[in-house]
Order: sequence, then structure tokens, then C-alpha cells
Amino acid sequence: MAERMLIKAGTVLSMDDDLGVLTPGEVLIEDGVIAAVGTDLGVTDAEVIDAPDSIVMPGFVDTHRHTWQAPLRLIASDWTLGHYLTGLHSGFSKHFRPEDTYAGNLLGTLEALDSGITTLLDWSHNLATPAHADAAIEGLKDSGARAIFAHGAGAPQWQNLPSTVPHSDDVKRLREEFFSTDDQLVTLAMALRGPQFATKETTLLDYQLAREVDTRITVHVGDGEWGRSRPIEWLRENDLLADDVTYVHCNELGDDELAMIADSGGTASVSADIELQMGHGWPATGRLLDAGIRPSLSIDVCSSNGGDMFGAMRSTIASQRGRDNGQAAEEGISLVEELRLGCRDVVEFATVEGARACGLDDKVGSLTPGKQADVILIDCDTLSLTPMNNPWGAIVYAAHPGNVDTVIVAGKVVKRDGELVGVDVDRVKRLAVETRDYLMTQAEGDAAIADAELGGAWLPEQVRA
Ligand SMILES: [Zn+2]
Repeated sequence: MAERMLIKAGTVLSMDDDLGVLTPGEVLIEDGVIAAVGTDLGVTDAEVIDAPDSIVMPGFVDTHRHTWQAPLRLIASDWTLGHYLTGLHSGFSKHFRPEDTYAGNLLGTLEALDSGITTLLDWSHNLATPAHADAAIEGLKDSGARAIFAHGAGAPQWQNLPSTVPHSDDVKRLREEFFSTDDQLVTLAMALRGPQFATKETTLLDYQLAREVDTRITVHVGDGEWGRSRPIEWLRENDLLADDVTYVHCNELGDDELAMIADSGGTASVSADIELQMGHGWPATGRLLDAGIRPSLSIDVCSSNGGDMFGAMRSTIASQRGRDNGQAAEEGISLVEELRLGCRDVVEFATVEGARACGLDDKVGSLTPGKQADVILIDCDTLSLTPMNNPWGAIVYAAHPGNVDTVIVAGKVVKRDGELVGVDVDRVKRLAVETRDYLMTQAEGDAAIADAELGGAWLPEQVRA
């Protein structure tokens, strides 16, 4: 007998063009897969979640997060890129033990899950040893989320940039040991430095390794000063643009470079919060759309900004609208015809486009029968979400992680009635605090960050990129 669950909700945002929005609607889950979506499915033999005041939608997808930094959360909230490079990259990163990487990935991924992000691409670039990689993967697995472990090597590869040190081939061992199949919740990708942060020779070798290991690629391009070095043009000249590559940031890429990405079928990830804070340039959302690329969204530096998709959607839409209105004003137009970026667009970026950027659009991103049942329920029976007049606006402008009542991953309920299911939350918090305390102790003996302190006032010494 199949395991069947029926969700009855006030509003179903299927994110599937054929199914659209159903008010009210029902979603039937069978053996972890979405079996049917409709207004009245006539099902009588399933476990029922009756949520007349809820929005039901696919889980969010975060396409780029340096999850290992979670125990240092918000330490960098007032930092420039220069502070960040000293404080995190030449400072705290080298003190992480494998257990700290584990604590970071577990904390960061559970935080994501709790806020309705069911798929997380962990951009893991502080892997000093194979044991760190093992611990990072263990943290992802223990969370219960769907995750992509994007192997980004560690300090040897990320110092003295542009680096001549090839990407660590430990990724081959990981492919064999943990990822012999892609048919599991946690899968493998490669987080490469690309032409901005490694020499051209090294970049060629890194791409070769990714092809050998047979993974998707994610790479930072177009951020700030580095981003104006024409990285996409170089990748194209070397025949390295492909449809299984995600380009993170893209701010300072030329319009012609965005067109090259579009031609190749590549995907993009916008991290508006950090891009605005650290001077990467205006989030490329509107320019990507002009080039025919619908971006995905990401949290990026979780030691600086919050880890939920509601915040990311808000900064994405606010920055683009501010940019568009500012440009119109400069052209003497006081009232634009209409806002070109809508709330619905941004919800699509956070779901279907995220799934596409992770190569998982056949599995998640919409409530389409046959896809995995990664589903969230947003409780709208609150003072901030009643009456429900516009679900898109509600999600982008008013909802927050506290409204996420239920989270389901591959048919398994991992959050119900606002609480994570089967998670020892106190243990996770304890591990995170222990890691934070250990790292602060280590800082005392490290000249680069010896003056580190908590509370928000500490600024590490600035280095120039
Ligand atoms: Zn990043």
C-alpha cells in the first residue's frame, strides 16, 4: 500500500505553467513523489494536512551559500570586502577543524530547511583536508535537506590569487565514496575558482577535472573589480562555456558576456544582499533578464547576511526596482509605465530557476506530478498575512521564516506546526556555540585577527583585493 498524503490548502502556487494557481487546491503525495495537483482530487485514503489558511508551494532553492561560515553568523554584517578577506579568508578560515565544518554545515542547512529552503547548494571552499570534506558532507546529510555539495577545495587553492595550485583531486575520492549515484538527497558539484581567481593554465586543468569527475560547475564571475577582467570572454575563447555551469554574481560582466552565457545555456545566481554590501556592483537581475537569463537566488556569505530566502527575494526586488526607477529619473521620466520586475518573477527565481541552476529541474522547483515532493506550507492565518489578497506579494514582501509551518522533503515531513521534526535543536545550537567559542580562542593567537571580538564593533584590517 502506497504511503499517501493529501495537502488541502487555501492557495496552491504550483509554479507549473500548466497547473498555475489553485484557490483552494490540493496536492497529493505518494511515496515521496507528487502524484496529483487539483482543486478536488476526491482522495479519501490518505493522511490529510488540512491548511485552509496556508499557501502551499515548492520549497525554495538556494544556489550558492558558504555554509561552513554559519557559526560566525553576522560577524561580518558591517564589513567591506576588504574586511571580509582578512577576517574570514586569511583569518578565521584556517582555524576550522573538521568538527567545526560539520557544525557549520549542520547549523546552516537546518536554518535553511527551517525557513523553507528545501534545496541548498553548499559552496564549500574551506576544505583544508579530506576530513573536512567528509565532515561537510556529513553535516549536509544529517540535516535531512536536499543539498548539493559543491567541492571548492581550500586554503592552498584560495591564497596568492590568481592561484597556480590546481583544484584538489580529493573530489575523485568523494565521487567514489559518497556520490556513486546522483539518485540521492545529497549530490556532488564542483565549485571552481575560474579565471578570476586562478591562472588560465590552472583554470583549464580545473575544468578538465570537473569533466573527469562528471559534475556540474559553479563559479564566481563578475564581482567587483575582478569581474571586469572579461572572464566570460576568456571562458568562451577556451570553449569552457556550457549549459551545466552556474555563474555566480555577474554584476560587472559586459552585456556581450551575458549574451555569451545565454547562448551557452548557462544559469546565473544573484546574491543581492552581499553584492550590495561588498561593492560587487548592482545585482545583475535586470541585465540578466535583458540577456534572456532568468536568474536563481542565493544567500552567499552567511557570516554577513541572514540565511532565508524571504530576505534574499526582498533585496533582489528592492535593488532592481531602485535601479530601474533611478535610471528612469536620470532620463527625466518621473513615472515609469510599469515596474518590470514583479513579485511573481522573484518567487520563480527562488524556486523553478533555482532548481534549473542546480540541474534538478526534473526533480524539484515546481509542484508538478512526477517530481519529488519538496513542499512547504506558509501559514497565512496571521495579522501580517490576512486577508490574503496577493500571494506573490505576501511571499516576497511580508512572509518570514516564522510563517513557515510545514516543510516536506521527498515526501518526508521535516517541519510540522512550526517545529523541525526529529532534530535535536539544542545539540545543534550547542555545537555551533562551541565552534564559535573555539574559533574566538584561536583568533587570540593569530596576528591577522588577534583583535577579534563579538558584539558588532570589530572591523578586521582591510586588504585590497
Ligand atoms: Zn560566494
